[in-house]
Amino acid sequence: MDILTNPLYKALFNTPVPRLLLLANPPHFTILASNDAHEAASNLLGKNIVGKTPWQIYDPLDTGNHGWLVLLDALVKASETNQRVYIKNYKYDILPSTNNVAASTLWDLEVLPILGNNGEMAYLMATTNNLSERLEREEKMELQIKKKAKADLKEINQRLQFALEAGKLGSFDLDFNTGKIISNEQFKRNYGKPVDAQFHYNDLLESVVPSYKQYLLERIKQAAETNTTCQAEYQIIWPDGSAHWVSIAGKPYLDSNGKMVRMVGVSQDITKQVADKYELLRATETLNQAIDSGGLGLWSADLRTDVLNISPKAKSQHGLKQDEEVTLSESFEMIDSNDREFVSKAFAKALEESSNFDIEYLIHPKDGSNPRWLRSTGRSYEDEFGNLSMVSGTIMDITDQKEEEVRKGQFIGMVGHELKTPLTSLKAYMQLSASYLKYGHYDLIVTTLEKANRQINKMTKLINSFLSVSRLESSLIILDQHPFDFALLVKEIMEEIEVLAIGHPIKLIKGDSVTVHADREKIGQVIFNYISNASKYSTNGTPIHISYEVSDGHLQFGVTDGGIGIKAHHLDKIFGRYYQVNSNPSLKIAGFGISLYLCYKIINRHGGHVWAESQYTKGSSFYFSLPLSL
Ligand code: ADP
Repeated sequence: MDILTNPLYKALFNTPVPRLLLLANPPHFTILASNDAHEAASNLLGKNIVGKTPWQIYDPLDTGNHGWLVLLDALVKASETNQRVYIKNYKYDILPSTNNVAASTLWDLEVLPILGNNGEMAYLMATTNNLSERLEREEKMELQIKKKAKADLKEINQRLQFALEAGKLGSFDLDFNTGKIISNEQFKRNYGKPVDAQFHYNDLLESVVPSYKQYLLERIKQAAETNTTCQAEYQIIWPDGSAHWVSIAGKPYLDSNGKMVRMVGVSQDITKQVADKYELLRATETLNQAIDSGGLGLWSADLRTDVLNISPKAKSQHGLKQDEEVTLSESFEMIDSNDREFVSKAFAKALEESSNFDIEYLIHPKDGSNPRWLRSTGRSYEDEFGNLSMVSGTIMDITDQKEEEVRKGQFIGMVGHELKTPLTSLKAYMQLSASYLKYGHYDLIVTTLEKANRQINKMTKLINSFLSVSRLESSLIILDQHPFDFALLVKEIMEEIEVLAIGHPIKLIKGDSVTVHADREKIGQVIFNYISNASKYSTNGTPIHISYEVSDGHLQFGVTDGGIGIKAHHLDKIFGRYYQVNSNPSLKIAGFGISLYLCYKIINRHGGHVWAESQYTKGSSFYFSLPLSL
């Protein structure tokens, strides 16, 4: 039996797949060999079946079906055609060993023709598989897989729930056809609902603040149209009336017509984040306001690219249009040539040492306006590669301060000079008096001492105004307020000035009778200063007009002259400390630029206002107004 000793067939035969080797001798198909798997599958273990035909071992009469015909057919076909025959599944009942009831069994069958030594087809190898068992096995396996998958799914779900709970994430599954929402507890909590309450799509929409409802519906609609995740952040009102913020992200599910039927997703309470965001916005806003009201411009520069970013305020400080951009080097060009090197050095030092800088320098604005003094502070910081190449800081326009410093210097110089002149005369008068005394010229002593006294008066006046300013500076101006007849005060001052013979006719154009509650002496000083300036800054003989009237609970007083006038750009500055127009130095009018400043301070302390109107070369009017209900 050479075929059974052939190693290939031996190996093929001794597999766990049931196999029979048959002689190709139709219609008998004598069994030559059967492997263990075959004997086990067909309950024939231990029975000697070699030399029998299949019909003897699977008796068709016992099993009462036509499975044996299928087997016979396959064996005949294979032996006749010399081709492999395969039957996918067929029923061939066999008698189990325990009882005599045939079990319905499904098999598949492969019949393989094998050639003998002479090259003629001699054997058939029938391989069968108990499909019923396999199906059962597969069903069992499928069941096991399903069970495992179910357990896994349960675990995943539990983990997901845990993650959702930990992140305070609500999960929802919204059915658009019924409006029903299946959700976890957190989802309801996010809307301020009890966890056991029914929560419907309509309830959700109702809780949304009206101004956000349309927005939310739009987002849902958009998600359905584009079949993309719906994301929305909106404000809601909880049943207890408190306002909260929610964000949702949901995946739409569309039916075959493209209509959205479900949305599954998560929700989160973002009230705190929104509050923090607004807090930050408010803080930034306040900071910006503070920066703006403090007149601060902001800038930052990247030295690698020469790019300069400057705030709108900083642009106007440099005389740039709001849409105009400049590079860092271009901005350096604006710095006065005397200051440029020192600014560059300060910049370089800050970069080298990562230190702050605080410098003052003069610039020539791009729009060609007057030079301005700027104070620039800043510090360097690292770029994304850790190199110190970024600089940022603030800019302040300190032109007014600088000019005032200059004026203050001039003022001190002038005061010094003005004090020295009478002092020199005083010394001379004293020496003169001493010599008159020595020679008994008593009458001459009297006139000399009178002259000396005038110099002393001049010095006293000067020192007084000097002191007034320093007192004002330290806010020591104390008002002694009483009700008084304003008309009478004006009359007295007009008489006083007439005695001084200033060379101008002074006319009262209009004068309402009014009682004011104020510091009589100080208001008198203001009126005096206005009139004496009117005479000082107009040619002799031109009239000075005075008028005052009551309107809207205020007293308004004005002095008008036909003098040299003031150019418009000086008008808002002349009430400033030490400010002098000096438009015509040849006029050589003595003054220190403080009397109008005193007027402003006095009226301001009374809660009133000062202002001036003027036409250059034609004349000026100086006014103040005082509230009457003091
Ligand atoms: P000063 O001591 O220089 O007069 P003030 O404070 O009184 O100082 O005035 C400030 C500047 O305002 C003056 O230098 C002058 O240029 C201008 N000014 C004041 N009054 C008049 C006026 N009536 N007409 C023209 N210019 C005036």
